[in-house]
Amino acid sequence: MEISRRGFFKVSAAASFGVGLAHSKEIILPKIDESIERELTNFLPEEWIPSVCGLCRAGCGMLVRKVNGKVTGVKGNRRNEISKGALCPKGFASLQYQFHPQRIYSPLIRKGEGGSPDSFQNIPWSQAFDLILERLIKLRTTNRTHSLIIFSRRKGELEWSMARHFADVYGTPNLIEYDMPNDCLLSEAIYKTSGVKGDLSFDFSSANLIVSFGNDWLQTYRDFVSANRGYALSKTSQPDVRSKIIQIEPRYSITAMKSDRWIRCNPAAEGMAALGVVFYMISSGNYDTEFANDYIENFDDLKESISRINFDRILEITGISEGEFRYLTRELASAKPAIAIGRRTDLFSQGLILLINILTGSFNQLGGAWIIPDDDALEFNKSLDPTARSGLSKVSLSKNSLNMIKVLERIIEKDPYRVEAAFFCNVNPVYNYPGLGVDAIEKIPFSVTFSNFLDETALYSDIVLPITTFFEEYEVKINYSLEANRIISTCKPLILNRDVMSTADIFLTLGKNIKEVQNNFLWDNSKEIYEDYVRKTFDSAPEIRARLEGYNEFEKSARSEGVLIPRREIKIDKLDFRFLKDINLDRVKVNRDTLKLIIYFPSGFNDFEGCQMPYLLDTIGSHLNSVWEFFVEVNPFTAEKYNLKGESIVYIENQDGKKIRARVKIFNGIMDNVIAAPAGLGRSGEFGITKGIGDNPLKLIPKIFSEFVFPVFGFSEVRIINA
Ligand code: SF4
Repeated sequence: MEISRRGFFKVSAAASFGVGLAHSKEIILPKIDESIERELTNFLPEEWIPSVCGLCRAGCGMLVRKVNGKVTGVKGNRRNEISKGALCPKGFASLQYQFHPQRIYSPLIRKGEGGSPDSFQNIPWSQAFDLILERLIKLRTTNRTHSLIIFSRRKGELEWSMARHFADVYGTPNLIEYDMPNDCLLSEAIYKTSGVKGDLSFDFSSANLIVSFGNDWLQTYRDFVSANRGYALSKTSQPDVRSKIIQIEPRYSITAMKSDRWIRCNPAAEGMAALGVVFYMISSGNYDTEFANDYIENFDDLKESISRINFDRILEITGISEGEFRYLTRELASAKPAIAIGRRTDLFSQGLILLINILTGSFNQLGGAWIIPDDDALEFNKSLDPTARSGLSKVSLSKNSLNMIKVLERIIEKDPYRVEAAFFCNVNPVYNYPGLGVDAIEKIPFSVTFSNFLDETALYSDIVLPITTFFEEYEVKINYSLEANRIISTCKPLILNRDVMSTADIFLTLGKNIKEVQNNFLWDNSKEIYEDYVRKTFDSAPEIRARLEGYNEFEKSARSEGVLIPRREIKIDKLDFRFLKDINLDRVKVNRDTLKLIIYFPSGFNDFEGCQMPYLLDTIGSHLNSVWEFFVEVNPFTAEKYNLKGESIVYIENQDGKKIRARVKIFNGIMDNVIAAPAGLGRSGEFGITKGIGDNPLKLIPKIFSEFVFPVFGFSEVRIINA
């Protein structure tokens, strides 16, 4: 029998007032962390305390200023191994996030339609846990634990490890590492070609040449601070060598502005440009033969497939001249170590990026691109009962694809089974994947969002749990230096906030209150989880034990500057690029007359978060004198063709009739017949003064999941109409 959303809440509301809950006793909550309470009430008049920024996964080192015990400011921590004193604009604005008036401080229950803040009521933590536990226990007793799906952005290792621990002992194979639409396909390409779950890390600091196929990496690289430090080092660290940067894309982005050469390319054709380079390198014999034979499965077959490609079609699709392809090939073949980096929105180009890095002989080398496997997080000891083992034996919704679009589509299609419950841990698919996110969440009978705000996904959830920020929690970050060394850094609470709970504490509470699994949750609170994690890290790394006196010194170093663990040599088997065999360029349509919209990702809004911070709203349109509004960049020739005036308001409409509204900004740095808009505005979540500013251009992107074929995610054919 299926229980509807409304039916579920009737049962639960009764249950929370004492009518027969399955776990039938008081909720066991984490114990108060008395040591941190003592520590935080014993302060100096002024102090600077090391911490780690938690607003994205990069984990930059921060010094937090406290005056009379109150947090009043932040700056970069020069001693930090990752960021060496730098912070991005978001890190500098983090106090606006921390003290935002719209932060939520109580669990919420939805009593009405999804999408409206008026549908929510505050409830106590005990009632929120009652409701969640009732659903989880019911799934356990009916052997459907696999139908719980947990999404986590993995911003912190404690959060991720506890999510993984809970998923395993509860019995779901569906712990999904959530990725943004502009971020997910490189790991997908690595997985498809090598079977390794991981990512590529680029050593920008020691490369002689960096060729970017559409990746505005100085603005949107996921480790923004490291990328910019790498750029600075690449220009200054070697006395006789200044690295060269070539940027291929239709827009004069921040990276294009700082490059040595900007090559214009038709929108979304950067993957084809990469294919053109592969064609030229292979057909001219300008590649590292040893690397190619070592790393590429059936290289002779691949050469044969590439030789059959119609190069004239590539010239037509990309708009890049043959002379420019010759130039690119010559540069890449002669500048070892060289980096090729690509759009993270496009599986097709990411596969080719991997291939170019191998052909240049710079793969897994200093100054090149490293594969970093995902398996560096520690696991806690666990014992699995038969229900958990049965759940874990079921096929995962991320099987054969790490792509978020695919996972959301599978939820909608109930493929291979219906998802009964979901936890969205600090992730926001309703905003990041417009249309698809709402469709998916509405197919799930019971969903819980863990968030700092009543954001877009929270507005469609049944329960919302208010969580800590990085100023209020214990957390561990694992990051990678440009040379792919592992850096462990940690933080402790600097602000006491008893109204909210860390994600680690939430999973601990859930685990402690499910009888069959509670023997796996013996910690008292997240402080003990933190200490356990840090101690296990220390015990498992002989390189650290040889350098540092003991656990206490390790923990202190991890908190004050980060501890470096040298890179592990990873054995990568041959990569399989057979997808290139199926390329049929005849299927690719080039429609020169249609206007194309491309979307870019300002650094202030990396991870699509940032609009809550007014300081960041000042930054996104500064190159066009635009603040606090949504705009579209239009080339002067395009403006004339479509009769558009600078500063006028227009509607941009896609082929499905979906529209967004924007102010026209005339910009020479965008190709004719292409328009560009920033992502990050158009929020419908409860963000106070920034709610409702501008529009979300991702609404116009067709829902495409491309299996190594053209076209790609991230652009749309549109009309533009004066409002
Ligand atoms: S890149 Fe910015 S948001 Fe990310 S951790 Fe560093 S300072 Fe924070």
